[in-house]
Amino acid sequence: MKVPSLFLCALVTLGLASPAAAQFGLLEQGAKRAKQINDFRWTDEEKAALGARVSELVRQRYGVVQDPAVHKYVTLVGRTITEKTAKPGLPWTFIVLDTDAVNAFAAPHGYVHITRGALALMKNEAELAGVLSHEIVHVTEEHTIDTLKKNTLKSAAAEEVSGGNALIEFLANAAYNNILDNAYSRGDEGSADTLGIALISKAGYAPQGLGSFLGTLAERNKSATEKRGLFSSHPEMQARQDKLTATITKEKLAGTQLVEARYKSSISYKPVPQSQIATVAAGTKGLAGGSGGSKSAEPAPAKEEAPKKKGFGLSKLTGGGGSETKSAQVVGSGGARGLDPEKDAKGGGNPAVVAVKVTPADVQAFKKAGQLT
Ligand SMILES: [Zn+2]
Repeated sequence: MKVPSLFLCALVTLGLASPAAAQFGLLEQGAKRAKQINDFRWTDEEKAALGARVSELVRQRYGVVQDPAVHKYVTLVGRTITEKTAKPGLPWTFIVLDTDAVNAFAAPHGYVHITRGALALMKNEAELAGVLSHEIVHVTEEHTIDTLKKNTLKSAAAEEVSGGNALIEFLANAAYNNILDNAYSRGDEGSADTLGIALISKAGYAPQGLGSFLGTLAERNKSATEKRGLFSSHPEMQARQDKLTATITKEKLAGTQLVEARYKSSISYKPVPQSQIATVAAGTKGLAGGSGGSKSAEPAPAKEEAPKKKGFGLSKLTGGGGSETKSAQVVGSGGARGLDPEKDAKGGGNPAVVAVKVTPADVQAFKKAGQLT
């Protein structure tokens, strides 16, 4: 599932032959379209195709750090946590995005993205585990799909979306915009926090890791007039940290490991202040150029190839449309008006997934070395 061409195959298959296509066909009849999508029961294959496409959009936006060692490390921390979930068998894929922005994004069916800038800001492995587990819970509880249904599909009835592929593309773009805008409900965020720290504690990590990182974020954001970036729509930071502390006591979460030395030897990025992050126009799609590589290894987003039809809803959702958005321009630094540097940051130039092989034995050895369980 890590080879980009397979992603495209999955989408094509979905569009032509899956049960989804049959249901999408009904949608074309027009009536009750939104309700039908809301009631739609996704198969694993459909969730996988949607997640793959959303991840592709995220990777095309920010680029991927082309460093197998960093990916292997983040994957090992991630797998240590996913082992403890009810869905250890999802095709979990951990992706480090090539941007100074501090952010993390989950996509359906096992995709967890974290930025280089977030890694730079963390002090130890327990903090990384805390943020990854929050995103992992968004996946396992299917918050990504619920948010799509709640936020986006209400307006779907008004959209002229035709055909299975066009609809998947519509849904993937909507889900992409939701996760960039952190459109989860407050309830989803709360459960991602509390279930997340329970998971890392079960794995042996100090459950204080998430709260500790949120404290660093609060400090980073204290001069900002708006809440920015990671968890931007979350409850107030202090209330959130208080809830985490209360949960640790109430649930008797007893993990203790910080694993600081291994974190420091694995991650050497330096944080970039918000005011110095280069940004691109809000809603820009596609590659912004940068430090990650010189060439795109994948075709341009299929959005560009989608049939241009009057009323086709993507441009509304992406804040732009057609080829105008194809080449992104760096428009300013973190202070540029109306831009959130943690979301609108420039990204790297290479969207290719960095495939890493991590066996169950590797995870065992990793846990043992970190005194994890
Ligand atoms: Zn969240």
